[in-house]
Amino acid sequence: MIIVLKPDATEEEKQHLLDRIDELGLKPHISVGKSRTIIGVIGDEDVIRALPIEAIAGVEKVIPILKPFKLVSREFREEDTIVRVRDVEIGGRSFTVIAGPCSIENREMLVDIAKKVKNLGAHILRGGAFKPRTSPYSFQGLGEEGLKYLAEAREITGMPVITELMDPRQAELIYKYTDIIQIGTRNMANFDLLKEVGSMDKPVMLKRGFMSKIKEFLMSAEYIASEGNLKIILCERGIRTFEDSTRNTLDISAVPVIKDLTHLPIIVDPSHAAGRRDIVGPLSRAAVAVGADGVMIEVHSNPELAKSDGQQSLDIDQFKETMDSLSSLLPIIGRKL
Ligand code: PEP
Ligand code: MN
Repeated sequence: MIIVLKPDATEEEKQHLLDRIDELGLKPHISVGKSRTIIGVIGDEDVIRALPIEAIAGVEKVIPILKPFKLVSREFREEDTIVRVRDVEIGGRSFTVIAGPCSIENREMLVDIAKKVKNLGAHILRGGAFKPRTSPYSFQGLGEEGLKYLAEAREITGMPVITELMDPRQAELIYKYTDIIQIGTRNMANFDLLKEVGSMDKPVMLKRGFMSKIKEFLMSAEYIASEGNLKIILCERGIRTFEDSTRNTLDISAVPVIKDLTHLPIIVDPSHAAGRRDIVGPLSRAAVAVGADGVMIEVHSNPELAKSDGQQSLDIDQFKETMDSLSSLLPIIGRKL
């Protein structure tokens, strides 16, 4: 349920309410808005319903959250959440571009791509060090060595970085090097992993499972939020359908549907959705038009030699073309790069 406090509720009244919630073994999540403070109470539904909250001083009203996802729902927070990473914002009026290679292959290549995408307007650098490959015989990533290069590229360019965490046993290691922790499509429903990142204080980018419904996607986000971490960025990366002209089918309608259901920012990954570079530009423009908060694009200085996902990676010139087209499109809907 959501408890809306009166605009003039005192600190003592608020504290008394929090003490009552605590005595009942429930978890309060406080959200201070522009005009009001609201407290989300999550826990045993029967205990919550038995609470005579409306009788407590300072409380204006109590609203039940009917959706199965609570903390991430629009009901819990009306305003859009803006996730801040160093000096970059994801959500709100900005449009954030995450760019970089699928996997980190060596230091020179990463630093070179990082400098180039930064010059072309990218905000965040991506690169995988532990790769979730379909085949155990494919390149699995450089591991910690790759993470070191990623941190070095951040120092050189000043761009925040994002990389994937695949296993709770690597959580500390990834935490040490990255600014945003990525949870990949194959791990969207790995609840232990979600709880692990939920207890961390760094932003998490949660990718939609390729066989998951929007509601299941948001329940996974709720797992992270329920542990206390609301710095969550959602990512639509395509789902599996019968269509095989593309690697996955980009579910573009998921963006406005998700915007309606949750206050969390959502970005689009056209690269893994398409699986082919020729439509990464058009799908990025579609992401702008449909109201996404950004895109994540795979870029390689020489896609032909890429150790993973070369077929869907843009080269530097193609990335420039895409960025140019996004810059002309964004002002039409009142956003900027
Ligand atoms: C990635 O972004 O590096 C990745 C592996 O994507 P996904 O989890 O969506 O397949
Ligand atoms: Mn990839």
